[in-house]
Amino acid sequence: MARKFFVGGNWKCNGTTEEVKKIVSTLNEAEVPSQDVVEVVISPPFVFLPLVKSLLRPDFHVAAQNCWVKKGGAFTGEVSAEMLVNLGIPWVILGHSERRLLLGESNEFVGDKVAYALAQNLKVIACVGETLEQRESGSTMEVVAAQTKSISERISDWTNVVVAYEPVWAIGTGKVATPAQAQEVHSVLREWFHTNISPEVAASIRIIYGGSVNGANCKELATQPDVDGFLVGGASLKAEFVDIIKSAT
Ligand code: PGA
Repeated sequence: MARKFFVGGNWKCNGTTEEVKKIVSTLNEAEVPSQDVVEVVISPPFVFLPLVKSLLRPDFHVAAQNCWVKKGGAFTGEVSAEMLVNLGIPWVILGHSERRLLLGESNEFVGDKVAYALAQNLKVIACVGETLEQRESGSTMEVVAAQTKSISERISDWTNVVVAYEPVWAIGTGKVATPAQAQEVHSVLREWFHTNISPEVAASIRIIYGGSVNGANCKELATQPDVDGFLVGGASLKAEFVDIIKSAT
């Protein structure tokens, strides 16, 4: 089953109105492969979502970087899945390592968030990945499997999920996983889906790589058979993001 290449741009907590307009106009002018070949999803901070959505070319879509774990209400500072749906935001990134590590989001909490967001008809980019310490102690697959299992225990349909494998040691460090390192984890993770979910889900689910992807290293990573795209942080704020989109072909 062919898996459409997916490129997400995670702007994290960056940008001013002027910068946002500039990045969007660069994206809007870019010549990239068609939507049949690559799915492009841009994730600005919450406050810029309506602006980006209104300015962005129609073949690119937007994602929030997080949402609340259940229905909105007395949760100061949070943004609910219902609000995203109300604004016509189709995607949300959940379980990013910065939230897991800095804000203490557990596997269970992330699993609950994924389940709730899917139930509201949002599509989810679910992030998993090991720390350097976990990699060095040989527990990479154990960690990634436990993170994925917490989601699988709470959902039954993976159609609207993209899994982002993002080794924590590669995020924002300039230390990208080698194509072989990425392929190894992606293929074992796909095998995990084969064994624990179903052969169909294993064949169709997109597993994208994130962690210091840039215009120079994307091509080789993209040739790996189990790398179905990228989640890009730093480089998604720069013109080279267009080259990363083009690595789909
Ligand atoms: P990076 O971030 O590309 O800046 O390493 C990736 C991410 O956190 O999604």
